[in-house]
Amino acid sequence: MSPDRSQRLKPGDVYDRLRAAGFRLTAPRRALVAALLAADSPLCAEQIHARVCGQGLDLSTVYRNLSTFVGMGWLQAIPGTHGERLFSLRTTSADSVTVQCLDCGRVNVLPASADALCAAVADLGFRPDSVRVTLSAHCDHKCAHSATDSPTT
Ligand SMILES: [Zn+2]
Repeated sequence: MSPDRSQRLKPGDVYDRLRAAGFRLTAPRRALVAALLAADSPLCAEQIHARVCGQGLDLSTVYRNLSTFVGMGWLQAIPGTHGERLFSLRTTSADSVTVQCLDCGRVNVLPASADALCAAVADLGFRPDSVRVTLSAHCDHKCAHSATDSPTT
């Protein structure tokens, strides 16, 4: 149990999984994987599309690939503040908490133990599989002072 060691996926790992699942590793798909691995916070499809601009991927192709990746299990879709879907790497530790700022929409994903929650649902007769928690919050110390700046996300 070392929650601080969140293991980052490497491009090679993802390529291996894509190959194993029968997907061709086209240059645009590689660019998309690279953009997702490089992202330091969850992004919506439009933001991801902007990062692979010039790689020959239109937005609908980006969407299609993103849902493929989510289906493969290494990418996760998180609901954003305005109903949009945000994409981030699924942490290898199964439990994570998404903290979302109600003011600026900024999202952070942090590893967190959900042992107490799992124990509670186990008492109800469920067999916990994976846990995803979204916590809405105000990131006062982070965005309150920059609220007058033009939004960058
Ligand atoms: Zn904020």
